[in-house]
Amino acid sequence: MRIESIPVPPTIDCSPPDKDTLVPVTATVDLGAIRHNVRVLRERAEGADLMAIVKADAYGHGAVPVTRVLHDEGVRHFAVARPAEAVELREAGCGDRILVLGAPFPDDLGVYTDYDLDMTVSSADAAEAARRHGRPARPLRVHVKVDTGMGRLGLSPEEAPGVIARLAEAPGVVLAGVWTHFATADEPESAFAQTQLSRFEALLAELDAAAAEIRPEHVHAANTGALLTIGARTHAFPAPLVRTGIALYGLAASAELHARADLRPAMRFTARVTHLQTVDAGTPISYGAQWRAPRRSRIATLGVGYGDGYPRLASGRAAVRIGGEERPVVGTICMDMCMVDLGPPDTPLARSVEVGDEAVLFGPDGPTMYDVASWAETIPYEICCGISPRVPRRYTDASEDRDARLRESSPSSGNFSPL
Ligand SMILES: *Cc1c(COP(=O)(O)O)cnc(C)c1O
Repeated sequence: MRIESIPVPPTIDCSPPDKDTLVPVTATVDLGAIRHNVRVLRERAEGADLMAIVKADAYGHGAVPVTRVLHDEGVRHFAVARPAEAVELREAGCGDRILVLGAPFPDDLGVYTDYDLDMTVSSADAAEAARRHGRPARPLRVHVKVDTGMGRLGLSPEEAPGVIARLAEAPGVVLAGVWTHFATADEPESAFAQTQLSRFEALLAELDAAAAEIRPEHVHAANTGALLTIGARTHAFPAPLVRTGIALYGLAASAELHARADLRPAMRFTARVTHLQTVDAGTPISYGAQWRAPRRSRIATLGVGYGDGYPRLASGRAAVRIGGEERPVVGTICMDMCMVDLGPPDTPLARSVEVGDEAVLFGPDGPTMYDVASWAETIPYEICCGISPRVPRRYTDASEDRDARLRESSPSSGNFSPL
C-alpha cells in the first residue's frame, strides 16, 4: 500500500471542556503552601534575595502558575535548566530575570538575547562566544559558573579569574553573576561542602584583589541543602542570591533535612477507584501474579500507575490512604492502574469504599513524598518531577489576602497577569 493513499481523517475535537474530570488521577498544588514556603525561605536567607528554581516544570508543580505566585510574593530572580523552559516563561508574560543553569551551545546564543535571558558561562569557549555575540545595544547577560567540586559544569577556580576579567571588560557583556554549586550540601556537617565553599571564597577574594571594576551584579552558591545545613556562610557575599528549588515546593532531600525548616509540601497526588472486586483466598493480583490474596479480600483498582509517575519499584511496598485508613498497594503497579487490598469484605472500610472514591497516594492526610521516594529507592525530587504531563494539575490557593494582592498586581505592569 502506498502511504499517500491513506486518507487523512478529519480533525476532531477530542477535548471536552471538563476533560480533566474524566481522568482518574489528579495532582493538586496548594499555591498557598508555596507562598508560605517562600516566606520561610526568605527569612532563612537573611536578606539574600531568592532565586527560585522552576526547572522541570517547577519540579512537576507547573512552571507558569508557580512562577506567577512567586512573582506575586516578590520573587524577581528565576532559574531553569534549558532555554526552552525560559522561553515558556517569557511567553507566559514573565518579565523577571531568568537564568538558564545548563551549559549553552556556543553557536546558539541568539535565544539569550532574543528573550533577554541570563546565560551560564561554563567554559572558556562559552565565554569567547559570549564576547563575540553580545552587543552594547543588546548586551548578553552572563553568570560565570565555577566548578569548586561538583564535577559537572564550570571553569576551574584557576582559570575563572582570567575569564571573568575578559568578560568584565567586554562591551557587549554584562557580568550578571559568579556562582558555584555544592555536591554534598544535603548532608548535615559535610566537610566537602565546606571545602567547596572555601574554594569559592578564595576565588572571590582573588577577584576582589585583582580589580575594583570586577563587580558581578550577584554572587550565588547556596541551594536548599546549603541554606538548611550550612546557613549564613553560603550567602555571606556582596549582592548574594540563594538558589532554592525543592524547598519552595515544601520538601527537602530527606525527611531529616525537612525537619530543619517549617516547610509545607505543596503537592497532593490522588487517584480514584475505578473498579471493585471481592476475590477468594489465593487469587493472584496483577502482572506476574506476584501477590495472592491471603484470605477472601475486597480489592480496589485505582486509576493510577507508572505511566502517571507512580513508580513501579514501589510495588509490594507502597500504601495509600483510602476511606480514612492506610491500606497496602498489592501486586505489581501497572502503567495505568494499581490495586489496593481493602481487607476482608465484611469490614466497615471494605463495605464503604465505592467506585469514584479518592485515594491519597501522597500529600496531606496520606503517605508523604518521602515515603513514596523510599519505597521507590529514590529521592523526592524524582517523584515530583516524574508526575507525568498526562496527570491534570489542579491549583488551590487558600491564602486569605490572595484576591486583594492579585487585584493590586495590575496587568499593565508588563509582567504576569493574575491567575
Ligand atoms: C536544581 C538546582 C538548584 C536547586 O536545588 P534544590 O536542592 O532544589 O534547592 C540550585 N542550583 C542548581 C545549579 C541546580 O541545578
